[in-house]
Amino acid sequence: MRRRTKIIATLGPSSENLISSLKDKVDIFRVNLAHGDTESHSKYFELIKTQAPTSSILVDLPGPKLRVGDIGKVELRAGQEILFSMNEGIVVQEPLFYRSVRPGSEILLADGIIKVRVTEVSNDQVKAIVETSGILTSRKGINIPDMVLETGLTDNDFRLMDEALSLGADYIGLSFVLSENDVIKAKSKIQGRAWVISKIEKSQAVQRLFRIVEESDGVMVARGDLGVEIGLENLPYIQRKIIRTSKLLGKPVILATQVLESMVNSPLPSRAEVIDVANSVYQGVDAIMLSDETAAGHYPVEAVQYLDEIITSSEDKVKPLRPSPMRSPDDAIAYAALSLSELSRSDFIAVHSRSGMSVIRVSRLRPKATILAFTPDPSVARKLKLCWGVVPLSIEENVGDLNELVSILDKKCRELGVKGNVVMVAGDPKMESGRTNLLKLHSIDSSLYP
Ligand code: PGA
Ligand code: MN
Repeated sequence: MRRRTKIIATLGPSSENLISSLKDKVDIFRVNLAHGDTESHSKYFELIKTQAPTSSILVDLPGPKLRVGDIGKVELRAGQEILFSMNEGIVVQEPLFYRSVRPGSEILLADGIIKVRVTEVSNDQVKAIVETSGILTSRKGINIPDMVLETGLTDNDFRLMDEALSLGADYIGLSFVLSENDVIKAKSKIQGRAWVISKIEKSQAVQRLFRIVEESDGVMVARGDLGVEIGLENLPYIQRKIIRTSKLLGKPVILATQVLESMVNSPLPSRAEVIDVANSVYQGVDAIMLSDETAAGHYPVEAVQYLDEIITSSEDKVKPLRPSPMRSPDDAIAYAALSLSELSRSDFIAVHSRSGMSVIRVSRLRPKATILAFTPDPSVARKLKLCWGVVPLSIEENVGDLNELVSILDKKCRELGVKGNVVMVAGDPKMESGRTNLLKLHSIDSSLYP
């Protein structure tokens, strides 16, 4: 049986030469634009397009991520007074930093390991007292949980969006989304050419979760920055809330960060990591993403292999949580398809979809049957790779009417070697795309369509 939960692997120095050995298990490669330059990004696209042409590509935009400048290695001790400035002490060259703090603000450095409290602020200097000691090195991240920003999209993000679109990204990840307005702005620029994935990694985004998810094409539980921003102890509950909200609204949801972190340095994952992966499979996430494990770790192939095995074993044993049915005629068809496939013991649900919406409606319900998603638009097929349980397949034909549609699906299923009952789902080709109104229990052995 096929794996239902999809695997995303971040490309980096550890994996750029291993794409062909990873491609069979990796559904989506992620190119993180927070690192590298135009040249290295297009090199990654070239490598993926030539060595893994059927894998889809997620491009991740950096957003307003603040980083420490070149400071070498500095030890910060509790009680010590420190200075942040453009060129001395702890160098931070982004002007946004100086506008984002006020006396009393907490600043978290290096993934929250070091905590400092602001005492004085001027246009280009910030004084602070260290509260939790640690060693700080160049380029480490800076998080300011009470930083109030208007937008999570920077000019650089808009520039990189153009780059991502011209390279042919299937999904664009927005870092530090703050409200639905960021998603709406990005979508109006992207115009459906790529799916917009909102990375939930700010408390402000958690406050606006429902509206952000409604506007997004997909969602990422970005546990790295989110954990620093909201406090690690709140992460399990918020993760569960993001997953539930996304599934409720029928938006694919990606679990990210420190999934198999110990595999950066070890050929084996920890017990806790294995159980975390299994639990997210039980919660029914659409995809699980590897970051440092494949980008910079010592065991990228093993990490993908383990992730594949843990997911497969977990899916075999426990049914994922299903969201409640949505009350719309289109979703009612999808729900009926789910019942029909179970009661008729059909192993396949064949969905014909131009926009991908009919496929998403079925995938959302996490059926036991495999979802064969037939679409005439190759870019829709590539995007549907992200969705739980979906096998995207391109068809050339543009269908005239319902009878023709049934006979095309019948032929395609036969070519794939499908036998027995197949549940067919589609929207009437004569209606506008995006609708779901056809349901048929079809027998492939029937002599109707020889
Ligand atoms: P990043 O996002 O890896 O781009 O920071 C994911 C996260 O913060 O968890
Ligand atoms: Mn992040």
